[in-house]
Amino acid sequence: MGVDAIMFVKVGGNRTKDRVQLVKDVAEAAYDIAAVFGASTFHTIRLESSDKDWWPNGRRALELVNSDDDDGPAINPTLGEVLIEVNLGGCYWGPGYERGSIGELIGIAMWLEERFSPCEVWYGGDSGMGTVHFNARTRQTYVKHAAGPDGWAYRRAWGMDNSDSVPIPLCSLCKKPYQRYGYGGSGNFGSFSCLGCGDHLQTHNKGVSWQRGDKWHNGKESVDLSTKEVALLLFA
Ligand SMILES: [Zn+2]
Repeated sequence: MGVDAIMFVKVGGNRTKDRVQLVKDVAEAAYDIAAVFGASTFHTIRLESSDKDWWPNGRRALELVNSDDDDGPAINPTLGEVLIEVNLGGCYWGPGYERGSIGELIGIAMWLEERFSPCEVWYGGDSGMGTVHFNARTRQTYVKHAAGPDGWAYRRAWGMDNSDSVPIPLCSLCKKPYQRYGYGGSGNFGSFSCLGCGDHLQTHNKGVSWQRGDKWHNGKESVDLSTKEVALLLFA
């Protein structure tokens, strides 16, 4: 759930005249970009699991498309231009929604700009998030925001709600409060992570006992903390 990142490369000029060559270039680039950034960065669809109506030929990291059919503002190509869709697999990141992997998104945009030069890379989020020409100047404003006081404001906004009185632990290494991401158990359950060191803690009884680790979030099975360890926990 959440706002997914969308990205398109707009290519014009002589490159679009030789369609056969362009199709080959996109296929090569689709493989290369996944090999560089990791296939899991992209939402590819293999043939055997493909919905025949939507993706009869499967879907690679990059595909030539006729138009931007996402929810956001249209980035339709004008006459003589073609659009390459970047099938990203992660969340959008932007000022006001600091959630996805900003470094990865910027790196991908720079790679595409280099590979398909001259071209324009357009970026935004589905669900109507603003779509921008993601050129060097725009990328710099995003980095500026990321390096400023609100660089992770989205996580902070979600992470400090303890209206159910589950205590928020303080990281003994980073000296910062853990960010909360799990709620429930009639107000008794809380799961927390430290953004500075990646530690995870959870409680099922409003902080009487605690477990370290969260298989789904950091790959570590949760293990009960001893009474002594619980006594040493600090709280925000
Ligand atoms: Zn920490």
